[in-house]
Amino acid sequence: MGKGQAKEEVKKQLNALFKSMDFVNNNFLDNEKMDKREFQVFFNIYQQLGLAWEFLGLQCKHWDGYKKTRDKKEACKICGKVKGADGFHILLPKKGPKKLGVKLKPNSKKTFETQKDAEIVNDTIDFYGALVNVDVHNSYKSSTFGKGINMAAERIVNIKENNVECHIDNHLIHIGLHDKDRRPGGKRYGGFPWEIRRKDLKHFPVIFDFDEKYRFLGLTILK
Ligand SMILES: [Zn+2]
Repeated sequence: MGKGQAKEEVKKQLNALFKSMDFVNNNFLDNEKMDKREFQVFFNIYQQLGLAWEFLGLQCKHWDGYKKTRDKKEACKICGKVKGADGFHILLPKKGPKKLGVKLKPNSKKTFETQKDAEIVNDTIDFYGALVNVDVHNSYKSSTFGKGINMAAERIVNIKENNVECHIDNHLIHIGLHDKDRRPGGKRYGGFPWEIRRKDLKHFPVIFDFDEKYRFLGLTILK
């Protein structure tokens, strides 16, 4: 098959596939009245069409170049593959809980030479405006702090909503408030509550949750 012929064939098949995907999406996945089992059947068809899209996309050499997408990425004019991304779009169910990936933890005792080699996953999702990042890596040698130290294996989850950022790793939970008027111009301090004077403590809108034995159960920060 010549180059021109291959291109036309891939283009034709992709166009037909996109039509089928739109058809399933518009007529079934969007249908409020459908029962759960029927919905699952159409949902599976949609996933299989998505799989066909991935395989067909492998044959596309992106002959016609790229166009800008709404989220400012460049997507192939023929197959829709995003430039620089190593995968295709991930299909998620429109209804019900969405699951993306499995829970990953560090999986090696080894200390890797580079951060890249130690990486297991470092991925971000923008979910209706809330940003969630999961960074799981094994131990690696870092030169960030000058001399070179070993970074510990970690699973780090970071959530950002407006000006609030929550960082969770194996050892601590940190909540940061990043409003403009809170931006520290100068020094930054930290301390346990019992180290801070009572009159200074009154500046902090924090409520501790605890049980009858004074076991710490959580905290609330008033905005
Ligand atoms: Zn393409």
